[in-house]
Amino acid sequence: MATTPSPPSMLPSVNSGRIRTLKEGSGKTGPVVYWMFRDQRLKDNWALIHAVHQANKAKVPVAVVFNLFDHFLGAKARHLGFMLKGLRQLCHQLQHSLHIPFFLVRGEAEETVSKFVRECGASLLVTDMSPLREVKKCKAEICERVSDLVTVHEVDAHNVVPLWVASEKLEYSARTIRGKINKKLSDYLVDFPDVEPPNTKWVITEDHVIDWDDIIAQVLRSGSEVPEVDWCEPGEIAAMEVLMGSKNGFLTKRLRNYSTDRNNPCKPTALSGLSPYLHFGQISAQRCALEARKLRASYPQAVDTFLEELIVRRELADNFCYYQPHYDSIQGAWEWARKTLLDHASDKRQHVYTREQLEKAKTADPLWNASQLEMVHYGKMHGFMRMYWAKKILEWTRGPEEALEICIYLNDKYEMDGRDPSGYNGCMWSICGVHDQGWRERPIFGKIRYMNYEGCKRKFDVDRYIAYVNKIVGELRKRKAENLLSEKEKVRRCCNPED
Ligand SMILES: Cc1cc2nc3c(=O)[nH]c(=O)nc-3n(C[C@H](O)[C@H](O)[C@H](O)COP(=O)(O)OP(=O)(O)OC[C@H]3O[C@@H](n4cnc5c(N)ncnc54)[C@H](O)[C@@H]3O)c2cc1C
Repeated sequence: MATTPSPPSMLPSVNSGRIRTLKEGSGKTGPVVYWMFRDQRLKDNWALIHAVHQANKAKVPVAVVFNLFDHFLGAKARHLGFMLKGLRQLCHQLQHSLHIPFFLVRGEAEETVSKFVRECGASLLVTDMSPLREVKKCKAEICERVSDLVTVHEVDAHNVVPLWVASEKLEYSARTIRGKINKKLSDYLVDFPDVEPPNTKWVITEDHVIDWDDIIAQVLRSGSEVPEVDWCEPGEIAAMEVLMGSKNGFLTKRLRNYSTDRNNPCKPTALSGLSPYLHFGQISAQRCALEARKLRASYPQAVDTFLEELIVRRELADNFCYYQPHYDSIQGAWEWARKTLLDHASDKRQHVYTREQLEKAKTADPLWNASQLEMVHYGKMHGFMRMYWAKKILEWTRGPEEALEICIYLNDKYEMDGRDPSGYNGCMWSICGVHDQGWRERPIFGKIRYMNYEGCKRKFDVDRYIAYVNKIVGELRKRKAENLLSEKEKVRRCCNPED
């Protein structure tokens, strides 16, 4: 897949550094198609802005197409329900406020997106950027399948500083990428223009009404093993409310204590709670950064810490997954870490648990069990607990490969924000020391940083956290049982209308 930067003069509203040409078409006039997948929003979306801008320049129509995969990294009802409900809102807003049609296709994107481009005679396909191998492979395949006349642009609308601008290589740590990102912030951390309405109308030849209720019901049914959560409302409006709403917005009400309380699992609201929205692209990290920066004079430490996590750590994770093909295996660890893990792979373990025991939170450690239950039932484990949780999996399984596999499996299955570069990176940091340094050597962990129960007890009130999780899990179970009862009652009434 050839990638060349686009000439800056052609693209006045989007910094040309954000756009890469994956395929240069031999030129024709046809519509512009934006294949949206990682940045599922109308506002603050550089890929959409670019697609509309290109369409207006060429005086052609523009449409958005979204492919619903049959399977994507094990996503379940919790993830797909949230995503589709967000997309339903987006579809409505796109069509009503911008008159841009939204098409939902289903299957393998290599096939469906190429087919869509072919059938509408598009001249330009604009896509989002993701560092994950499945998406990279799919995009390369689409470039192969679409006609030679079609140009394909990739826009990094997810990172504040586009991945390829921040660095051209695998970075060693936050220390090595921080300066590179900061140097580029003045070019990229800028205000967004509004999306221009398209000048040319898309002519819809056939009925393309999307039966959202039916599609959502289907994915909820087939992924019911991991049910939806009700605390996290999907969509762009809800995302902005979490960021800066007047009731309990992160920047409006909760920012003050971010730097002091963010590592205390007993104070979960000290965290922003933005990760599900960032993962599905229902909010732009750049918007979060722009709004946070406005508050720097009042809360310098909190804002700086938040921007470090939101920009440096998050974009480092994208860098890792993009430049390290083995981002989810021991092969992707640095040499020193691989060696130390293998040296200690056969060390005696006090406990060895199976994946099933771990999944059911059946360990001898009540703190670990609480964090596992928080993830399974609530769908978002506290950030500090994620590190402890993953490190204990290393301690309690038969070896580092198995530990990493179980860690990624559970993270992707239950976390609302799972199947994300920050997830692979977080598991690799905890188990394989990626972006970390070597520590004093000890059994099982070797030189990988160690965490234990006693350390947690010194940092926060462990019993309070366990009680807090038990309470939320108890409430969720009760609500589930009540819902089940009322469902049964509905069925009974249907079968016995006389009652
Ligand atoms: C084992 C393990 C697994 C993880 N799995 C995921 C995952 O699947 N998805 C995910 O988004 N994050 C993951 N993280 C990173 C981090 O724990 C979460 O991003 C954070 O807890 C999300 O909550 P928040 O948005 O309220 O955090 P906040 O502290 O409010 O952070 C704001 C944003 O900054 C980014 N961020 C924060 N911490 C990190 C970090 N350590 N690395 C990269 N980006 C960060 C996230 O985008 C986050 O939403 C994982 C970390 C570990 C150690």
